[in-house]
Amino acid sequence: MDFVQYFYNIIDFFKLPIWRYLIYGIVLILAVLWLSFVYWTYRDAKLRNTNAIFWALIVFILNFPGLFIYLILRPPEFIEDVLERDLEIKRMELYLSKDIKFCPTCRSEVKDDFVICPQCRKKLKKSCVQCEKPLNLDWKVCPYCKAEQ
Ligand SMILES: [Zn+2]
Ligand SMILES: [Zn+2]
Repeated sequence: MDFVQYFYNIIDFFKLPIWRYLIYGIVLILAVLWLSFVYWTYRDAKLRNTNAIFWALIVFILNFPGLFIYLILRPPEFIEDVLERDLEIKRMELYLSKDIKFCPTCRSEVKDDFVICPQCRKKLKKSCVQCEKPLNLDWKVCPYCKAEQ
């Protein structure tokens, strides 16, 4: 076998149909990967409440660089986390506000003007003898009507 024959053998080897199928396979896998990037970006952007279609389009056009840009520029938190945190802040504000207190006996929530705890019947306030507004148990005089207790 001389050198030229050897060379043609190599050419023939690369002309085998298996190479074409291999390339089709690789292209197919890349296309699936590409589309899954686009889908992932769309879903992630939606969860973060940012422009999902815009970012999906960017990744569809630019592929890897687009995904890279998205990962840098995307909002840092999920929309659920933001909502959850807002809810938590509201809850804290409610606790800190003067309106909500806790029963000293059973720790259930009671409002500031409750005369008695609705859970354990602990007496929390007394009613003014004259105007019947709720007063602290140790108050000597009613701050609303000045009546001595
Ligand atoms: Zn109680
Ligand atoms: Zn009073």
